[in-house]
Order: sequence, then C-alpha cells, then structure tokens
Amino acid sequence: MAWPELPERPLVLVPVGATEQHGPHLPFDTDSVIAAETAEAVATRLVTSGRSVVVTPALAFGASGEHQSFAGTVSIGQEALRAVVIELVRSLSTWAGRIVLVIGHGGNMSTLVSAVPQLTDEGHDVSWVPCAPAGAPPEITDAHAGRLETSLMLFLRPGSVRQPLPGAGDTRPMRELLPLLTASGVGAVSSSGVLGDPTGATAEEGEELFASMTAEVERRIVRAQPDARGLLGRVGGRARHAGATGADGPRG
Ligand SMILES: [Zn+2]
Repeated sequence: MAWPELPERPLVLVPVGATEQHGPHLPFDTDSVIAAETAEAVATRLVTSGRSVVVTPALAFGASGEHQSFAGTVSIGQEALRAVVIELVRSLSTWAGRIVLVIGHGGNMSTLVSAVPQLTDEGHDVSWVPCAPAGAPPEITDAHAGRLETSLMLFLRPGSVRQPLPGAGDTRPMRELLPLLTASGVGAVSSSGVLGDPTGATAEEGEELFASMTAEVERRIVRAQPDARGLLGRVGGRARHAGATGADGPRG
C-alpha cells in the first residue's frame, strides 16, 4: 500500500510476534508468522463485511527472556517492548481510527497489561487480543512449540516444519510452569525447548484451529469491549477450561 490508498481513520491491526526458539522442529519466527497470518485473515474477513482495515508489518522482536538459553533467541525485554508499543501506538494514532494489537507470543502479555492502559489514559483507542482458538481442549492448546503451534505451522508454513516431530516436552499446565520459567527459563524444565506435546499435530488440524482462531479474534474485535487491561476478552465471559493454557493465559 502507498499513502494515497489509505482509507480514512481505518482500524489498524498490529501483529506482535517474537524471535525465539520453538523446539527442534519449528522456526524462530513461529509467533510472528501466527500473529501476522491471523491479522491478515481477520482483516480480509472484516474488509469483506465493509470495514476499513489495514495490517502493519509484524513486530518481530518481543520479550523472550525465558527462551534465552537457546541459541537463536532474540529478545528486547519487557522495558524496551513497552517503549516500542507506546511509541507505535502514539504514531499510529495520528492517522488510525482504532488500533488492535494481535498477540502471537504469551511472554509479551505482561508488557501489554501495563502499556495499553497507559495509552488508553492518553486518549488512544487501543486494545489487544491473543491468538487463541475458541473452545479447543487443553491438550491441543498447549504452551509452546507443542500440538497447537505445530499444527498451525504445518498448515501455514508446511515447508518450515522439521520432521520427524520431537516427542513431548514438559506438559504441565502453564500455571504450574510459569513460576519455574520466570525463575530459571525454559531450558531448566525442557531440554528440547518444547512445552506441551507436538505428537499428533497435522496440517488438517492446523487449518481447523486457524479457522477457529481467526473467527474468535474477529468476534472479539467486532465486539470491542476491552477490559481494564485493554484485553478484548472472550465473548460470553470466562474460558470454559479453567487452567487451559490456550485460553487467555500465556502461550509461547
Ligand atoms: Zn510460539
């Protein structure tokens, strides 16, 4: 797109990804790919229904300190990410209508929880939504480089998924893992970097999960009811699976 083609005060979707290890089988840009593809698919659906929507390039670097013991991980940390998000939204607001950050990496969420309310206080129309399929069971919506991300990448970027798939990593739920990850990093709990279990992942499942995810993200954007943290929450209230890592909980 060139500037004369921009619609007036469009809804702007900003994919927010990461560059971090995703096990021995998925590429470093997995979270960025998922965020960008989700934003593009949602934008296409919204444009079809008559809205003005544009998608920015994906933010490729985020807060990935918990993956730093694996070579290839590139993290800018929470503080720098916070500054980036704040300046991006201030700049976007000069021409955008509404701004939605589409989040592919769970580790970025704690930054958004503090940055987005500040931006709202400044008068910007900004909120955020995680890339999470609606209603999928917890064993599929695992935390990092497991069944969910492997199926999604087999659908979105089949040539980038290394075979054979690795076995299960640490499969404990994220609420149990999170304190360990924060204290010691992913390497301390999983030598392969996988949290969850990619076994059984398929492109067909990835296609279904992607369709469910884009429909869910679209619903939340259309509903436009951010909570105090700026999160566009689940339509219909709380997630049905308490403790499911793939709901609004952190996912890598
Ligand atoms: Zn990921």
